[in-house]
Amino acid sequence: SGRWARAMAILKEVEEKCGTPISKLRQVADAMTVEMHAGLASEGGSKLKMLISYVDNLPTGDEKGLFYALDLGGTNFRVLRVQLGGKDKSVVNQEFDEVSIPPHLMTGTSEELFDFIARALEKFVATEGEGFHPAPGRQRELGFTFSFPVRQLSISSGTLIKWTKGFNIEDAVGQDVVGELTKSMEKIGLDMRVAALVNDTIGTLAGGRYHNQDVAAAVILGTGTNAAYVERAHAIPKWHGLLPKSGEMVINMEWGNFRSSHLPLTEYDQALDVESLNPGEQIFEKIISGMYLGEVVRRVLSRMAEEADFFGDTVPPKLQIPFILRTPDMSAMHHDTSPDLRVVGGKLKDILEISNTSLKMRKTIVELCDIVATRGARLSAAGIFGILKKLGRDTVRDGEKQKSVIALDGGLYEHYTKFSACMESTLKELLGGEIAESIVIEHSNDGSGIGAALLAASHSQYV
Ligand code: ADP
Ligand code: MG
Repeated sequence: SGRWARAMAILKEVEEKCGTPISKLRQVADAMTVEMHAGLASEGGSKLKMLISYVDNLPTGDEKGLFYALDLGGTNFRVLRVQLGGKDKSVVNQEFDEVSIPPHLMTGTSEELFDFIARALEKFVATEGEGFHPAPGRQRELGFTFSFPVRQLSISSGTLIKWTKGFNIEDAVGQDVVGELTKSMEKIGLDMRVAALVNDTIGTLAGGRYHNQDVAAAVILGTGTNAAYVERAHAIPKWHGLLPKSGEMVINMEWGNFRSSHLPLTEYDQALDVESLNPGEQIFEKIISGMYLGEVVRRVLSRMAEEADFFGDTVPPKLQIPFILRTPDMSAMHHDTSPDLRVVGGKLKDILEISNTSLKMRKTIVELCDIVATRGARLSAAGIFGILKKLGRDTVRDGEKQKSVIALDGGLYEHYTKFSACMESTLKELLGGEIAESIVIEHSNDGSGIGAALLAASHSQYV
């Protein structure tokens, strides 16, 4: 019928506009490399902030003692304590607690958010088990993973540049987030020192390096997306401080804010961006990460309902609600292997209150999920390829095969199997033949938490 043809035309157009042929991915990777250089050359020189982390030494494995970590950067935050055994002993013991952030705190005041966090931390400290007591007279030390763009002032302080991922707490912008947390801890008499302020990419890099010395970069694919890597200090023209002894500096790229004319953007992305809390920003993040993938799918479905009566004569009201279709649900539909696509049917019914969907319609929806996820996965691979190019690790040099490990973490990477598989195969495709064997992607499970504790250890006041 005419309706079906119109729906298919919409789908076809999305497919074309989301296309990521290898030639395009190479252009994206080259643009990423160019922007990396520009961001390192001068402050504000690029959409890529290429933030200096003040981490100039990554864990060696010798870190020892009891340390805490706090991981804030999405819908949940986690607190953990880690007993590090020192040389050859690794992590002896760890415990964690996860707390979801009440949505009203994500757009309230700075004080409310940090008070809430400090109280959760206090509760966690109060439930300390055997083997987790700090040595007498020693202050508890904390690695704070705060995964929003921060201009670091030192390893343990930094001001918030802007919020992302659905957070919008105006009075916190420009404030030292460690100062804010410390104030809230002092208010309730919680005696803890923030020894390191990092974000999830740097934590993941540190956690990855602790286990594997070949780790060169870390990428997060979760609610948002970002990357960090180890740069040679003298390749950072905007750094005017002393050259670190190691000769290295970890750079927090903030690659979620990358954009380029080569990115395959659609009208749906444009509309999503305009209606977002941060229009014009985080464009790479908005086509790749877990917060947005399901929403892109919803927007296309909504158009198909409006203009092609895809779900019948009326537009299902639930389909009009922004962010109602979450990426985990999209992923569940995309992975549906049942012959009648009953997971797809169930999700449509439960989430969108659409019943009686035909198999043909369900197949179309799976195809749409595939188009949107594939674009995100292939662009993530292009981003990683861009980093490898910047590091000169994208080809075999002088016949020498240097192994490079990229530490990956985040709920999207971890749970959206088709996404991660596509990303990994695309990276191989970009690298080609020989070098592909020496580039390894490793899941750094909860690197961001452990990593922050490790960095707290190496920046402890007692070493
Ligand atoms: P955060 O990025 O908030 O620190 P995570 O790394 O745990 O937290 O990532 C959570 C995000 O991962 C969710 O917002 C969601 O988009 C995505 N995610 C979680 N589970 C799944 C899933 N089963 N399939 C696809 N995406 C998922
Ligand atoms: Mg996280």
